[in-house]
Amino acid sequence: MTDFAFEHRYSRQIRFRHLGAEGQARISRARVAVVGLGALGTASASQLARAGVGYLRLIDRDVVEPSNLQRQLLYTEDDARLAKPKAIAARDALAAANSDIEVEAVVDDLDAANAEQLLADVDVVIDGSDNFEVRYLINEVAVKHNLPWAYAGAVEAHGTSAFLRPGHTPCLVCLIGYGARVGHDTCDTVGVIAPIVQWMASFQVAEVLKFLAGREDALSDAILQADLWHTDVRLIRMGQPKPDCPCCARREFVALGAGRRALSVTFCGRQTIQVRPQHDASLSLDALAARLRPLGHVRASDALLRFETGDVALTVFPNGRALVHGTDDPARARALYAQYIGM
Ligand SMILES: [Zn+2]
Repeated sequence: MTDFAFEHRYSRQIRFRHLGAEGQARISRARVAVVGLGALGTASASQLARAGVGYLRLIDRDVVEPSNLQRQLLYTEDDARLAKPKAIAARDALAAANSDIEVEAVVDDLDAANAEQLLADVDVVIDGSDNFEVRYLINEVAVKHNLPWAYAGAVEAHGTSAFLRPGHTPCLVCLIGYGARVGHDTCDTVGVIAPIVQWMASFQVAEVLKFLAGREDALSDAILQADLWHTDVRLIRMGQPKPDCPCCARREFVALGAGRRALSVTFCGRQTIQVRPQHDASLSLDALAARLRPLGHVRASDALLRFETGDVALTVFPNGRALVHGTDDPARARALYAQYIGM
């Protein structure tokens, strides 16, 4: 905790007539979960922490890599060299920016088995993920538990952002159906520039601050779409939820109902596949390091173990989850997991 006076620290927000002391007090009591600590997630989390949101839960499965530094503003070269888990690196950076708030780091993958638990006890969820599997899960948890959430995505120089409130606005399935899972461009395939990410994150955070401050009257209830390269901006009114939406009208939660698979694999970007066992394990990373040392290069901490051999590398977490780097082949990823971690 600092000895900075509250009224002084947040004076510029308190002076802003649409927030005032009452709005700031509400923001300071608020609890927000951020799913995905890439460019969007770190930009949003940074603004929320500095705005004084009282509690932030940062959820991310990945580690910091050199290609993140161009746009993920909370990370340093040291974080990339040490391959720090993003949730932990982000928590540490935010704690240095505002030690008056509580920041919890969760180094895990949000999935059907843990989504409701990881998104419990918060007022709002921020989507900073880069994939639709996670977005559909967030949307279903949001609808099921009447939880507002801010959606955003950005690739190349264009992006989309919207603040969705169950019962008031359409849900994600009302807006785009269930068809967005496959074949969409990602930052790994087509690239992205930082300004569009910052803009989409800023729109998310502005809407979230309005909501947290109790100023629902100021919400846009619109989708922002922008292309910064061609300087094209659109604001599309969302209208009403669809009366026949399978998710928010019929409450069929297909993503949450999918449950956990045996030894599941998920694509996490170019040349990286996540493998996780059906049930969380409790691995001794020290014992694993000793076993793997004769087979390649090993670096281990309490939080993770990194093992490099030949053209592949594995990042292993204590709960048994692993990122297999250097292949796009799920079968090979599973085989490497079985070979080196053994489950
Ligand atoms: Zn819906």
